[in-house]
Amino acid sequence: MNRVNSSTTLNFINGKYCDPVGDDWLENINPADGTLLGRIANSTEQDVENAVIAASNAQSNWSESTLEQRSRILTKIGDLIEKNLESLAIIESEDSGKPIDRARTIEIPRAASNFHFFANAITQFSSESHESVGQNAINFTLRQPLGVVGCISPWNLPLYLFTWKIAPALAAGNCVIAKPSELTPRTASMLGDLCNRAGLPVGVLNIVQGAGTGAGQAILEHEKIKAISFTGGTATGEHVARVVAPKFKKLSLELGGKNPNIIFADCNYERALETTIHSSFANQGQICLCGSRIFVESSVYEKFKADLVARASQLTVGHPSKTETTIGAMVSGDHYRKVLSYFDEIEPTEAAILCGGKPATVEGHAQGFYIEPTVIEVQHNQCRLNQEEIFGPVVTLMPFDNEEEVIAMANDVKYGLSATIWTKDLDRTMRLSKKIECGVIWINTWLMRDLRTPFGGMKNSGVGREGGLEALRFFTEPKNICIAFEN
Ligand code: NAP
Repeated sequence: MNRVNSSTTLNFINGKYCDPVGDDWLENINPADGTLLGRIANSTEQDVENAVIAASNAQSNWSESTLEQRSRILTKIGDLIEKNLESLAIIESEDSGKPIDRARTIEIPRAASNFHFFANAITQFSSESHESVGQNAINFTLRQPLGVVGCISPWNLPLYLFTWKIAPALAAGNCVIAKPSELTPRTASMLGDLCNRAGLPVGVLNIVQGAGTGAGQAILEHEKIKAISFTGGTATGEHVARVVAPKFKKLSLELGGKNPNIIFADCNYERALETTIHSSFANQGQICLCGSRIFVESSVYEKFKADLVARASQLTVGHPSKTETTIGAMVSGDHYRKVLSYFDEIEPTEAAILCGGKPATVEGHAQGFYIEPTVIEVQHNQCRLNQEEIFGPVVTLMPFDNEEEVIAMANDVKYGLSATIWTKDLDRTMRLSKKIECGVIWINTWLMRDLRTPFGGMKNSGVGREGGLEALRFFTEPKNICIAFEN
């Protein structure tokens, strides 16, 4: 693939790779071994300005293109992601420390699906109309592109979440200024080249690399950027909301989670246990939807505890490039140290580490950021381990006696992203689903996604919904047109 120079990640503006105006660079570190992967453009407001100029120039042609034209181009981008799956997966795994197998089988295919899905969805997108009976009028909703929009995404599922925003934004006829995390910049950069090859007109997608506080902040503040779709931590989301609100931009926030995984005694035990291993430790626990608080009904608590610890201890912590690795490296030294700091601060009266709780040693990669899968038994839901998003391979475990108690604990947290419930009692699933304050509830499964469904969180986990038609609604401006007619 044409990426100019594999060790230098440039901006992609107006269809071309370019240096940052300020000639400022960040280091890209390989979390698997601490080596330098290369340097990244550290952009400023001048780079964002150039991107906005390119996007504004492209906007009217793009918004006037037919749905079929857009759909064809988006389909081609999805096809090209599939064609380049292997190189994208290798780069994604190197940048982030995630096991190559996960990048290859789940995340890069999903990035392609995002384009394929919205290529189709836009051709099915329709708006409402209302006949105003007795008034001799018909109202319909005209949905127009917003214009130039900003998409800011995190490092945990890099291309997967980058494209989750970009694909609907483009499908709806907007031009985009997008910024990936500085920790995982390279698959985003590769997307620029794929878009050129798919025939996306220049300026329609512009990718600005660099730090959140520089390039990201400049995107938030730019007057010509009409909307911000942001995925990241809750503290950053709060900052984003403060900056964007006085500018009256449309805003979508997908933020952190501290999700309950609730296991009743009547569940399919083996399935619950196996899926819990996955929902606890997939991507080193660095998925906003991970079930990091596990609540188990008292009658099966001791058995589940022993089985969970045994299975967690068998997971293979290893170099991300090895296919047998189930737990790769944490994304960065800073994040690695943040997660480890929770273990140092455990109060013995509040919690006990049942397994893990320390760095993992991976032979030959002493400088890599590895942590053992960790299960901690906690005494009460109000402890810090149950209230803060740790975002690592760390889960807590607690028993419960009845539905009321577990619903109260599930909700007694500032987050409200997702919950998982394991039971065969259908009535109970409905009772809990109605009472648990989360945007997504999985019954007897975890992270089963259908791209048509609304996705997002309640409380401090976010504002608004993405996915399916919700994303297309977010990226368009609804206008009420009222036409009166005479009898
Ligand atoms: P983060 O630190 O909040 O960063 C998210 C993005 O915002 C990055 O691109 C970051 O750039 C950028 N950013 C930082 N400061 C900014 C500013 N002042 N203005 C504009 N942009 C700024 O989050 P993260 O550590 O990358 O990701 C982990 C968090 O994301 C977790 O809390 C996780 O739960 C959440 N998450 C939520 C969802 C969801 O759908 N709800 C999905 C995935 C992840 P730099 O990285 O370059 O600083």
